[in-house]
Amino acid sequence: MFAARTPQSRHSDREFTVGNILREEVAGALDGYDLAGKLAMGANPTCGGCLMNSACGKGCPAAVIADGRHVGEIDLEQCPVVQITTRPADGS
Ligand code: SF4
Repeated sequence: MFAARTPQSRHSDREFTVGNILREEVAGALDGYDLAGKLAMGANPTCGGCLMNSACGKGCPAAVIADGRHVGEIDLEQCPVVQITTRPADGS
């Protein structure tokens, strides 16, 4: 939830809330949460065409959300492909 509360987040924190631990038992809700469905990373054309797609962990969904992008977009701090292709020509 913390990542969705950054000013630039495009996600509502409600998308990632299953309950309130101060008011109710949340173990069942957590067990039933569709983690893979809601936080699936790599749903973008760059990852789809990447040779490392099947082996790549694709970074952190929370970092992507906190950076103002949608889940599924590339974690720009972790992806070596994007870092290489966007690196300035002088190598700095
Ligand atoms: S290396 Fe980058 S582009 Fe390739 S699958 Fe991983 S996150 Fe996607």
